[in-house]
Amino acid sequence: MNVILLAAPGAGKGTQADLITSNFDFRHLSTGDLLREALLKNDENSVKLKEVMESGKLVSDEIILEIIKNNVFENCNYLFDGFPRTLNQAIMLDELFKQCGRRIDYVINIVVDKDILEKRIVGRVTCPNCKAIYNTYFDDMMPKKEGICDKCGSNLIHRSDDCLETFENRYQTYLDETSPLIDYYKKQGILVEVKSGNTKEETFIKVKKIIEGE
Ligand code: AMP
Repeated sequence: MNVILLAAPGAGKGTQADLITSNFDFRHLSTGDLLREALLKNDENSVKLKEVMESGKLVSDEIILEIIKNNVFENCNYLFDGFPRTLNQAIMLDELFKQCGRRIDYVINIVVDKDILEKRIVGRVTCPNCKAIYNTYFDDMMPKKEGICDKCGSNLIHRSDDCLETFENRYQTYLDETSPLIDYYKKQGILVEVKSGNTKEETFIKVKKIIEGE
């Protein structure tokens, strides 16, 4: 089974992806995480890449397709998080999957109000080691000890692109570039909308039912 998590920035795609991979057999593929790994190379390309990512704009479809081609080769269940983000990427994924006789089973669109999204982005801290995600605005998402990962004890980081200005840019980019995918997948009959619950667990109950085919 292949699933796409589609949502505005801060809607909790990463958190739901963690819950899905701990409960089901999926390979989690986050283009954002893969791009951040590429930044660690610290070469000429990574400087340009960092600038684009920090501005809230999207990285070019060519770079993203290269990343996807290098990572989607095994015959396993893929969970796409943060990809596709443009109509062009969605079409490229359809073509890639058609070539190898695979298909997307569900596109889960997590729906969240804009003011909640803003807090989720601006308050987000992540673990650079095990990728766990926390938030300093929401009780159920705070780390037990400030600045320390509950799972592996590493120091948490606040991503430099998780600020208000970038949020506004990223939200606008989402409206312009990514939200057309809602109609694209609706027409294919594979889009399922999930209204975000008060907690990640509440949202996950709905997501789980979709994956279990209920
Ligand atoms: P994320 O962690 O998914 O929020 O991604 C962080 C940043 O990486 C985004 O703001 C984009 O600049 C870039 N990015 C991640 N995934 C994609 C994608 N599929 N297409 C274009 N840019 C992407």
